[in-house]
Parts: sequence; C-alpha cells; structure tokens
Amino acid sequence: MEDSYDIVVIGGGLAGAILAYALAAGHYRVALFEARPFGAADQPSYDDRSVALAFGSQRILDGLGLWSTIAPSATPIKIIHVSERGRFGATRLHHNEEGVDALGYVAPNREIGRAVYARLASQHNPEVIAPASLRDLTIGSSQVDLTVDTGADGISAQRKALWCRLLVAADGADSEVRWRSGVGVEVSNYAQTAIVANVTPSRHHDYTAFERFTDTGPIALLPMSEGRCSLVWTHTPEGAEAALRLGDAAFLDELQDRFGYRLGRFITVGARHAYPLSLSKAREVVAPRVALIGNAAHALHPVAGQGFNLALRDVAVLAELLCTGSCDDPGDRHLLTRYARLRAADLRRTMRFTDGLARLFSNPFRPLAYTRVVALLTLDLVAPLRHALARRAMGLSGCVPRLTSGLPLRELQ
Ligand SMILES: Cc1cc2nc3c(=O)[nH]c(=O)nc-3n(C[C@H](O)[C@H](O)[C@H](O)COP(=O)(O)OP(=O)(O)OC[C@H]3O[C@@H](n4cnc5c(N)ncnc54)[C@H](O)[C@@H]3O)c2cc1C
Repeated sequence: MEDSYDIVVIGGGLAGAILAYALAAGHYRVALFEARPFGAADQPSYDDRSVALAFGSQRILDGLGLWSTIAPSATPIKIIHVSERGRFGATRLHHNEEGVDALGYVAPNREIGRAVYARLASQHNPEVIAPASLRDLTIGSSQVDLTVDTGADGISAQRKALWCRLLVAADGADSEVRWRSGVGVEVSNYAQTAIVANVTPSRHHDYTAFERFTDTGPIALLPMSEGRCSLVWTHTPEGAEAALRLGDAAFLDELQDRFGYRLGRFITVGARHAYPLSLSKAREVVAPRVALIGNAAHALHPVAGQGFNLALRDVAVLAELLCTGSCDDPGDRHLLTRYARLRAADLRRTMRFTDGLARLFSNPFRPLAYTRVVALLTLDLVAPLRHALARRAMGLSGCVPRLTSGLPLRELQ
C-alpha cells in the first residue's frame, strides 16, 4: 500500500528541516525526506560555516521554540561596520540606535542543525526519513505521486511510492523538485568563489560584524565565541585556488594586507573551505501543488548574509498560511497563490539588494568607486538612511510574518 501524507518536504537542510518542524503546529501529516544520513560530516547545509542571523530571524527561531537551544552557541552582533579598502568613508550601524540588544546573531550551521534535528527526533509528526532521495514525481489535480529511494547506498536502497497533497521543494539550488515540476530557473554565475574559515585576531571583535570591500572581493568577518571571527572572503576562482594552496601564515598575511589592523593581528586560521558563487532564481516559487523555499527558490551571493534569512521568512510565511488558515487542502491553489504573492516583494528587494552590492563593489570603474565612497559617507551621516539599512539588515523591512513580529505561529486557544 502507498503511504500518503498531507505535506511532503524534500530536503532536510536548514530551510526544509525548520519548515517541517514548524508544521508540527498544524493538523497535517508531514514527512521530511533528506538525502544525507543524520549527522553526516558531508551534510551540505550543516557544515563548518556560521550564519549571520538577522534580528527578525532570531525572532522566528524563538517563536518556533528553537532559539533556546541555539542561543548558547550564538554570538550577538552589536555593530555592523562597512568600509572599502584604500578609500575614505565607512558606515556603522549600532544596536542601541535601533533600540535592540543585538542587530542579529552569528550561529554555527551545525548547531542549528543539531537543535532542529533533536526536536524532530522527539516527535512522531513530522516523520523524518533519511537518507532518502527523490527519484520521480507526477503532479495530478488532487495529489502529487512520488517515488523515493530510501537507504544509504545503491545496494540497500529501497524504492518507495507515496503521495501527498502539497510537495515542498527544499532541496537546494540544484532542486530536483523544481526541475521535475517544470519551474524554470535563471542562473547567473558571479565567477567568484567564497573561502570560509574561522580566524582568531589579537584584538577582541567587540561584537562587531565587518564587511570590507576590497579590489579583489569583499571580506566579511562575523563575531564568534572566544574572540574568534567567521571569515567569508570572496575571490576570483583562480584567486581562491591560490589562497587555498597557501600555508596558514601566508594566508593570514594576505588577509592582514586586505583587511588591515582594525582587529589587530590575525593569529590563527582553522580549516578553509571553498564555495563557488552564483545567483539562482526560480521563475516562480509555486507550481500546482508545489511550493519552493530556501535555496530551491533563490540562492544568493553571501556578501550581505541574506540567503538563510530570506529562507527563514519563506518558512515563516508558508507555515503561517498552512497552520492558521481554515483551508483543509494544503495544496490549495489559492493558498499557494497567496504564498507567492506574500513573498514576491521581499524576494525581489533582497535579491536586487544583494546582487547590486556584489556587482557594485566588485567593479573597479573609477566613477563607481567615487559613488561608493559618497554612498558610505552619506549612510554614515544621514540617520534615517542608516535606520532604513539597519531595518533591512535586521530582516524587519516590508510586510513581516507573525513570527517575525514576535507572535506565535498560531493564537493560543
Ligand atoms: C559561503 C556562504 C556563506 C553564507 N552565509 C550566510 C549568512 O551569513 N547568512 C545567511 O542568511 N545566509 C548565508 N548563506 C546562505 C545559506 O547557506 C543558505 O541560504 C542555506 O544553506 C539555504 O538552505 P537550504 O536548506 O535552502 O538549502 P541547502 O543548504 O542547499 O540544503 C538542501 C538540502 O536538500 C538535500 N537534498 C538535495 N537533493 C535532494 C533530493 N533529491 N532528495 C532529498 N534531499 C535532497 C541536501 O542534502 C541538503 O540537505 C551563505 C552561503 C554561502 C555559500
């Protein structure tokens, strides 16, 4: 007999696992299928990176009851400092100007994964099946028929047929669900690679997140525990290969030269990992009986640390529509149209902002360099502009879902 679910989520990375957990607040039978085994070292979503969580994202995680488990490993961001190497002008966003304890937090991806999977393991709904990979799907008018391979490898794999009324694509930038649902995607290659590593400087970061634009690509340094910083350093692909080949001391010298001495001397660097960067944007975030979230809908340049924050807002809006509405069919056309409509402005603005930043600051054209200096100085001097930028960085601009407003997903009965 075929298994049936109200909602199936394909992809148990950061976005899919949190959505599946959030849906436990509704009355639906939910299944989550993830290709990698639990706790696998090569799980692509919960690797050694740390993620900058906007203030609004912390509220979403708190509203879902996940923040208390993540908080011990998270570091507050009290100041955001934006500057350009070799040019005058910088912008500083302060938490006290915005009347909050922190503009956001930095949390290790692995710890977010641990927190959400521990919760998922403690309840029957959603059912979590891993390792399991989507093989095929057929969309009908009232259900989606799926074929999934479960098991760790080709030998022990078992083919399983099931159906659901709503299928959620949370299977990353190369989403199989997106492709099989006939949703097109626009991909633009930045010809850039991010090198990610943890570094320890001699001076404490004082809970400041630095974004420094250099002629060879932006450098982000995010505050972490024990005075360490999470480094995201964008290079050309050739520059990244060369930087990965350097010994630790030479790598730190190079970083020192590009970043300067605001944090004193860089003393140690941990393991370095490379991530090729591209912008991918699904043409639609819904198809009949299908909703796209996270990287499956939009994968961004990490320059402004917006990708996961955007994904969490997808999760908050979709979970709110599914858990608070009166509709019995989770794949209802009107519900999905509403999801697409509610997400449109945020997706458009955030992608335009991030893409614009990535391109503006990687262009050596001289008049643009002056534009950047003027922009940074103006932002630093004009409080309302700074406030608008801070609201965006905090994930609070535009129409916000209930969880971002600090409200529970559902009214308590
Ligand atoms: C260098 C770097 C730094 C970043 N820093 C930040 C930051 O500071 N702040 C921020 O907000 N964002 C940041 N991001 C973005 C953030 O990492 C992504 O937004 C986030 O990983 C999206 O999660 P996801 O779950 O949508 O997709 P993914 O992380 O890609 O997860 C997809 C999941 O689906 C599974 N899967 C794939 N195919 C199948 C299948 N056929 N069947 C079943 N399962 C499948 C995969 O195993 C994986 O677990 C950064 C990104 C990069 C590259």
